[in-house]
Amino acid sequence: MIRTRFAPSPNGPLHLGHAYAAVVAHDLARARGGRFLLRIEDIDGARSRPGLAAEFLADLAWLGLRRDGEAVFQSARSAAYAAAGERLKAMGLLYPCRCTRAEIAASVTAEGPDGPVYPGTCRGRNVDPAGAAWRLDMAQAIAAAGPLEWIDERAGAQRATPGIFGDVVLLRKEAPASYHLAATLDDAADGITLVTRGADLFAASHVHRLLQALLGLPVPVWHHHGLLVEADGRKLAKRRGAPSLADRRHAGEDGTALAEALRRHRFPAGITLAESVDVSP
Ligand code: GLU
Repeated sequence: MIRTRFAPSPNGPLHLGHAYAAVVAHDLARARGGRFLLRIEDIDGARSRPGLAAEFLADLAWLGLRRDGEAVFQSARSAAYAAAGERLKAMGLLYPCRCTRAEIAASVTAEGPDGPVYPGTCRGRNVDPAGAAWRLDMAQAIAAAGPLEWIDERAGAQRATPGIFGDVVLLRKEAPASYHLAATLDDAADGITLVTRGADLFAASHVHRLLQALLGLPVPVWHHHGLLVEADGRKLAKRRGAPSLADRRHAGEDGTALAEALRRHRFPAGITLAESVDVSP
């Protein structure tokens, strides 16, 4: 049975872009007789705001999107992330890194999908692991996994090219895991068969496919959907004035009518659906 999920991070209130993502995940599950899950990605301690998850539940109900089962919180799964980290360490695929952002910025030579590609400064060095971040030795990991493919329902079959990210951080100093490790483990733990998310995270799936191979996890199909952008091509953002769903809800707007409009691709004036976003600040 197909299982999809909506996985917002409680770093700020949800807006129209999130509503569109939730509608896509919900409708794909319902159209195929499957289940739609809600996962709160609340492991970014510095940015997570307690209390927002309750607003997210109210937002989904207001949109008329019924979730199956209870919401899952990443903050409750630290032990599973740590255990996977230990497995990868035992395979010799992680190394500790104590480089600061400034040190990395000063030595970077390539750009990847997430920004500067780490130049590998700490790889092969004897770094004190206490309080360090742990990075994936990407070249070794790719060699261990061999050639990999994955399927996006919209874009078709993809050859995995996780190397474009360089040695990504999997275990962080200030959080139980990085987004890549936590999302991959959770999608497996939650039995997600169709990973739906915005096209801005398309490249991340190369890394997730590699982690699935290394950790022996089931491989889902992906569905990267278009993103709501403003007239200047930039993603909707609360800080640029996109009203939050909570504001609209409190103002008495009809949430199910809004969800229906999003379903029909009827967006407010000046907002369109794009396959990529301008990420400049
Ligand atoms: N938590 C991520 C976000 O809010 C979504 C991650 C995912 O769907 O894989 O952008």
